[in-house]
Amino acid sequence: MEPMNIDKIDNMDEALLKIQELEKRLKDIEYRIPKKYPEVKFLTYKDRKRILVTGGAGFVGSHLVDRLMMEGHEVIVVDNFFTGRKRNVEHWIGHENFELIHHDIVNPLYIEVDQIYHLASPASPPHYMYNPVKTIKTNTVGTINMLGLAKRVGARVLIASTSEVYGDPEVHPQTESYWGHVNPIGPRACYDEAKRVSETLAYSYDKQENVEVRVARIFNTYGPRMHMNDGRVVSNFILQALTGQDITIYGSGQQTRSFQYVTDLVDGLVKLQNSNYSLPVNLGNPEEHTIEEFAVIIHKMVGGKSHIVHKEAMEDDPQRRKPDITRAKNILGWQPVVSLQEGIKKTVNYFRKELMRSKHSERNLHSPVDASNINKVHKAGDYNDF
Ligand code: NAD
Ligand code: UDP
Ligand code: UDP
Repeated sequence: MEPMNIDKIDNMDEALLKIQELEKRLKDIEYRIPKKYPEVKFLTYKDRKRILVTGGAGFVGSHLVDRLMMEGHEVIVVDNFFTGRKRNVEHWIGHENFELIHHDIVNPLYIEVDQIYHLASPASPPHYMYNPVKTIKTNTVGTINMLGLAKRVGARVLIASTSEVYGDPEVHPQTESYWGHVNPIGPRACYDEAKRVSETLAYSYDKQENVEVRVARIFNTYGPRMHMNDGRVVSNFILQALTGQDITIYGSGQQTRSFQYVTDLVDGLVKLQNSNYSLPVNLGNPEEHTIEEFAVIIHKMVGGKSHIVHKEAMEDDPQRRKPDITRAKNILGWQPVVSLQEGIKKTVNYFRKELMRSKHSERNLHSPVDASNINKVHKAGDYNDF
């Protein structure tokens, strides 16, 4: 690059041009500075595990990846980027303990691992209804492939199941012993029934092939890195409130949900994977709200001029949902610790930042800094500057 001659600047326009040139040079230099990673714990060969996270570039998966990386494990993410994004894990790309494989788990996968977290599947109703046959394949053929892989290499596998296995429940709150109430031919069936088969497959491989399995029944989860347009209630309401659009309640708004913050879920998933318990375990926050109450909470927290409006009800929408978490408390010593206020605040901040983003090059600054359970092990502020 030509050196710049400051003496030649004789008017404002020229000065502005020079400033732009300097800014460009600074950017070029910044690109050449080696990438910094959060400082991960060092584990010796004896304690370090090779862990596969399917769907690791998605919302929940990317937070789980942060947790496992920070603990010092080798993490392999397998994702087809249907609903996930490289951006969710971009802060690990290039790290010696991290690998990202673009692969659809409906196809076989031959790698060597010690543990598997099997999360790959669209999760929001609009996403899983978009291509119902593919949703079924991912949760059946994909699960068989992961169980086949676990069988071949002797790995333990945790299946991300869902509260949807209870369907529109007649038992409240839902305990793990409840068999559920699912319409097998309704619009949600491609997800609900496929997840039920996924559980059945896990226990069949357990019985027949001695594969070690763990089954987490995950209830509604929210937090930073949720897909902004996934059509779920949390992302819809926050986005609508931030952009001044109507906040859309489907149906009466008297249906209920219980929302858990993503770091609580990650904590539960890791505890379950490393426990000796193989039957299904509910992971969710038992604080229950009607959707109408929830709309008011978000509206108040975000502010703005949105109106709360009612739209047509969704077909087969479960009317009440709240986990009974006695099993998780007794067996894993786990319960959620992040309050709705605190979790929503972090999520709103993330959505705000994402809405202001204007360039690809802007880093995804929601980093492991935010993971409250990690901050207990590592000093808070350790990763503020990456
Ligand atoms: P998400 O859509 O953000 O993540 C899913 C990830 O799986 C994405 O990265 C996607 O690209 C990937 N994927 C989908 N199909 C794939 C395929 N065939 N091959 C490879 N990758 C594929 O969803 P999420 O909210 O992070 O959910 C993760 C898991 O947790 C899912 O199994 C979901 O069913 C379960 N779950 C989530 C919730 C919740 O509220 N978020 C509730 C219950 C269960
Ligand atoms: N599989 C895989 N990776 C492996 C081992 C198996 O993807 O490392 C797939 C394989 O394609 C197979 C499925 O898992 O179709 C089930 O494997 P299993 O050994 O149970 O069945 P089989 O190969 O006997 O049909
Ligand atoms: N919902 C709503 N408005 C929206 C999105 C969702 O009222 O803009 C309702 C939906 O009908 C359901 C609840 O919020 O009763 C939770 O929906 P979500 O899609 O988040 O997940 P679900 O728990 O149904 O899988």
